[in-house]
Amino acid sequence: MATEGIVIIGAGPAGAAAAIGLARMGEPVVLVGEPRRFAAVEGTSVRVIDALRGLGLRQALQALAPPSPRRAVWNGRYTEANQESLVDRERFDRGLLDDLERLGVKLVRGRVTALHSAPGLHELEIDTDAGRRTLAADFLVEARGRAAPGGGAPRLRGVETVSLLQYWRGPAGEAGSAVTGVEDGWMWMAALADGRRYLQLTIDVASASLPPKRALGDYCSARFRAVEAATPFLRDAEPVGEPYARTSTAVLNEVVAGDDWIRVGDAAMAVDPLSGNGIFQALSSALQAPAVVATLRHDPHRAALARQFHSRRIEHLFHRFARIGRDFYAQELRWPQAPFWAARRGWPDAQPLHATVTPETVRVARGPVVCEGRIVEADVVVTPDQPLGVWQVDGLAVAPILAALRAEEGSARDKVRGEAVLCARFGLEPARAAGL
Ligand code: FAD
Repeated sequence: MATEGIVIIGAGPAGAAAAIGLARMGEPVVLVGEPRRFAAVEGTSVRVIDALRGLGLRQALQALAPPSPRRAVWNGRYTEANQESLVDRERFDRGLLDDLERLGVKLVRGRVTALHSAPGLHELEIDTDAGRRTLAADFLVEARGRAAPGGGAPRLRGVETVSLLQYWRGPAGEAGSAVTGVEDGWMWMAALADGRRYLQLTIDVASASLPPKRALGDYCSARFRAVEAATPFLRDAEPVGEPYARTSTAVLNEVVAGDDWIRVGDAAMAVDPLSGNGIFQALSSALQAPAVVATLRHDPHRAALARQFHSRRIEHLFHRFARIGRDFYAQELRWPQAPFWAARRGWPDAQPLHATVTPETVRVARGPVVCEGRIVEADVVVTPDQPLGVWQVDGLAVAPILAALRAEEGSARDKVRGEAVLCARFGLEPARAAGL
């Protein structure tokens, strides 16, 4: 069997972003994937749109509706602070595959049914429309999302959670979404301009007294009809088809890279959907992957550094989103005794989302950074809030600026400019920066 260089399994946002990045670097990459097997609507932010645009994913972008208001009824208060672009994930995922083909990424449309890995060799069996085929590669990028096998490696899991999705259809109208808490969970509702409505109830797996599958449709309808914030999404609408259950537990894989493999996107860590940031985090982890993969393949003497870079960033991102979720759950105080809320307002820990930064806590350390498509070691500025360290701001290395300020060298003008750069990047108050 001829051996490919790098094989990516999974054609979601993470797999697509990693494939484009690797192809742009001239790495020999082939992506094996099939579109998701269920319909879903999700919300995306401007950051996601910018990232998709940067990757040239034009067809996928077509599946995003123009930004519409995201309403929230949380702790009994109504807010309409944010906007989000609703995305029809079936169309989006088909668009990703078309984009990959248009961008010249080698693609095998199909489902991987078996994967046998030995050091330096990954053999895949794939079901395609044209029949079964096999493929071998020397490097594997695992991007099968939550469906990626765990392989028995340790995982940190949040409270076991399930989301029940029910489609409704009504007359065409204004697009928009809303989130609200209920005693045993939360609901997210979305209306697309063409009349499709998408309602999602997220509850504890343990506490859910769910009816048998055949009665799930009536159960979901009754749950949504009982909630005032859902009323605008149900008006003149009827449920369509059977509800679909998606596991939505937050999961962090504690090992996300080896010498000849790496996990990206939800396959590395999947965040609580309350954050509405899953696609963003999937893209973030995949955008850093090409440099990690290239280093592992071509610079084995820096393999440990590359693995450290990827793992620490995945872990950092996971905890950041988990703490954002925790603080949001903690703001909902209507059901203090309810197990769903009690279990989430203290998870994953009690650490504040942002640590306090004072001049004394700002220091220089050696750390892994991305430089010209590889992971290398450099001096980075570390603070309690930026434990991974910052190497450059707008192409300017910040460690030498800090060193110069501390050595009392340089002109007063340079010092003022240096302090401004550090204050802006590390959230220090200018008045307190004197101690730098
Ligand atoms: P996926 O998007 O899951 O892609 C994995 C790909 O691998 C799929 O194309 C799949 O078909 C393919 N695949 C799987 N197995 C195989 C196989 N054996 N062979 C070949 N291909 C395979 N995120 C948001 O940003 N906003 C939201 O509003 C939002 N809502 C969510 C609601 C729920 C209930 C859940 C569970 C998640 C939500 N997310 C949301 C998260 C978002 O869906 C994911 O974080 C994101 O899609 C992860 O991207 P990915 O590429 O890592 O994985």
